[in-house]
Amino acid sequence: MGCRPRIPAGMVELRNYIGGNWVDAEGNRRIDDVNPATGEIIASVPQSSAADVARAIDVAHKTFEHWRKVPAPKRAEIMYRVGTLLRERKEDLARKMTREMGKVLVEARGDVQEGIDMAFYMAGEGRRAFGHTTPSELPNKFAMAVRDPIGVAGIITPWNFPMAIPTWKTFPAIVLGNTVVFKPATDTPMLALELVKIFEEAGLPPGVMNLVFGSGSVAGEVLLKDERVRLISFTGSNEVGRHVASEAGLGLKRISLELGGKNAVIVMDDADLDLALDGIVWSAYGTSGQRCTACSRVIAHEAIHDQLVERLAARVKTLRLGDGLLETTDVGPVINRGAAESIDRYVEIGKAEGAQMVVGGGIASEGDLAKGSFYRPTLFTGVRPDMRIAKEEIFGPVLSVIKVKDFDEAVRVNNGVTYGLSSSIFTQDVNRVFRAIRDLESGLLYVNAGTTGAEIHLPFGGVKGTGNGHREAGVAALDFFSEWKSVYIDYSGQLQRAQIDA
Ligand code: NAP
Ligand code: MG
Repeated sequence: MGCRPRIPAGMVELRNYIGGNWVDAEGNRRIDDVNPATGEIIASVPQSSAADVARAIDVAHKTFEHWRKVPAPKRAEIMYRVGTLLRERKEDLARKMTREMGKVLVEARGDVQEGIDMAFYMAGEGRRAFGHTTPSELPNKFAMAVRDPIGVAGIITPWNFPMAIPTWKTFPAIVLGNTVVFKPATDTPMLALELVKIFEEAGLPPGVMNLVFGSGSVAGEVLLKDERVRLISFTGSNEVGRHVASEAGLGLKRISLELGGKNAVIVMDDADLDLALDGIVWSAYGTSGQRCTACSRVIAHEAIHDQLVERLAARVKTLRLGDGLLETTDVGPVINRGAAESIDRYVEIGKAEGAQMVVGGGIASEGDLAKGSFYRPTLFTGVRPDMRIAKEEIFGPVLSVIKVKDFDEAVRVNNGVTYGLSSSIFTQDVNRVFRAIRDLESGLLYVNAGTTGAEIHLPFGGVKGTGNGHREAGVAALDFFSEWKSVYIDYSGQLQRAQIDA
């Protein structure tokens, strides 16, 4: 329509996917998708209006009437094909992911692998999705509980796991008979498009999966407010999560929130320190510290504290920053310039609070790094539990070490934050392990491993400020994406009154 901007050669032009058609947003407003390692523009992305999103909801709403009646094993056959296509394209998708959001290639492959695992797991659920039968209290009466689909699912995702998180949400939603309107993060549109293309190729009927690009404040907001959207599955920051809860809550939608973390590794006096160091470095600096489960605090027993800090500092100094596509890179960029600046503000706060910065600090700008958004892997010691850097989510490659006297103090420090996603303990003492399982406030707990590495067939999520009590993945996902219907079938031929006729 006349005002269409020209797309430079080599740049990918993305479109919304509504009712099985690839369509421009109203007015064809667009923004750039940028590689955070190089500053290169890799795609042009539509910015949907409220009316675009309403159209997608309308299609999803109408398609639900048909999709909910397709037998679940048939819906699941499509999911097997999705899994096969993801597996065939794993390397290509991983490389696209590294270019789009920066994580090193080995981690990007893991991100895609989570999607593959979830596809096959949820495909299996198409032939299970178990409800239950149970005896009735009355004679000649049958009782069962079955799972019903709910309706249109609004799926809102962050950029840090651009394949895994959308698959955790859309796969169970679709296998269980819901239809979807998916609004991915502004920073990772290309991976969202790749996933939706795979659904299309796998034979998903038009209208079951609808994709709308655009900002949270315009496109996301419509999903929260439209009455036809019956559930919202959101992963992102606490600030936006609270807003989602209040807006979508007004419409009595079902809402799942997976929010931030301030995860800790506890290292006890009897720990295998080599192993603890490996676990800490991988979970604190992997994905440049931008995982919801990233280790952001080390709680070190005083007996091993000095040795641990010395060895940790030596390890952190060796981490090489760079483009995640290069074999030589240990730590990739952070998502964008704004994120690097926000991390730097936290590092300044840490220094002002009196913590000792023993490694790192600052936005890196030597050589090619200047083209991207890189933050130096940073280590603070002498951190007190009441400092802001020990309590608030930084979401960057910044780690704080807190010294404690004993196990009980370690538990208090671990639990002394508003979040509760992932905790870890390194110890050889089985009694301590079981106390840790009982006493650490977190949704995920690792023994003799870092804070990351969830497997998709176990429930995933956190306690306290990390969410609102739901879990993703595993069978827990089925409970979120389906509605229980209890069914009573009386074959006595007479009126039998429960609780009244003995
Ligand atoms: P974010 O800023 O909260 O954004 C998350 C999503 O919400 C994006 O798609 C965003 O769109 C959208 N959004 C923003 N404002 C909205 C609104 N008013 N209405 C509806 N949607 C809106 O989070 P992020 O920076 O992308 O991701 C980092 C955060 O996610 C961290 O706090 C991290 O801990 C958390 N996280 C948690 C888990 C978990 O499972 N617990 C997993 C991964 C990440 P735009 O992109 O357009 O802003
Ligand atoms: Mg954001």
